[in-house]
Amino acid sequence: MRKKIVAGNWKMNLGLTDALILAEKVKERENDYPCGVILIPSFPFLTSVKKVLEGSRVQLGAQNCADKENGAFTGEVSVTQLKSVGAEYVIIGHSERRENYGESNEVLRQKLVLVLKHGLKPIFCCGEPLQVRNENNQEVYVLNQLHESLFGLTEAEMASVIVAYEPIWAIGTGLNATPGQAQEMHAFIRRQIATQYSDILAGQTIILYGGSCKPANAPALFACADVDGGLIGGASLQADDFLAIIGAAK
Ligand code: PEP
Repeated sequence: MRKKIVAGNWKMNLGLTDALILAEKVKERENDYPCGVILIPSFPFLTSVKKVLEGSRVQLGAQNCADKENGAFTGEVSVTQLKSVGAEYVIIGHSERRENYGESNEVLRQKLVLVLKHGLKPIFCCGEPLQVRNENNQEVYVLNQLHESLFGLTEAEMASVIVAYEPIWAIGTGLNATPGQAQEMHAFIRRQIATQYSDILAGQTIILYGGSCKPANAPALFACADVDGGLIGGASLQADDFLAIIGAAK
């Protein structure tokens, strides 16, 4: 049985006070959670949010990391620095990083290797833009992302990777993938992992859905056989919405 996970990607939102209030609210209800929960604040808040989460089941993630170990890379944050403040997960390849900061599949591959080398777990995002979906080429597009970034990893490394399928046309648009579309793509990704590695690994890999996931659509999305929870953007900033989405991950 795969564990379900709901992760909240706060992106570049909230000040310190609001971040801590939100973390407290999420932590308060942890006994009700049917799934794993990860909070992913901006870099400056990691240490303080970690303190709030101390002793709780709620885990901490970072939104990005450098593609270098350490050194003269002004403005970058290394995996070992993230580890030192208690982050356990790192988002790699969010479409906003790919689009706005030109992160290529090759750079993402290097980041994956570093995250795994230092014992953190990557949440590897993949997903197609609208035009590709309209042309019905989403499988080819996502398969290329998997091959160029992920499939060079060993099976042992892959066992620590969480995949997030996030169709770009659904991110922050209010237009979520239908449960049918999500299931189809999640099953496709799982089949590719089976082909590349093994049925056992494919069966164990957690594949999250991301893209305008809300309390209203989460139950149907999370009920899909191959959808193992969600990576939540906008709705993770409202405690009530985020808690309702967590509740849907039974
Ligand atoms: C995301 O950015 O990972 C995301 C899923 O955003 P939203 O939920 O706001 O669409």
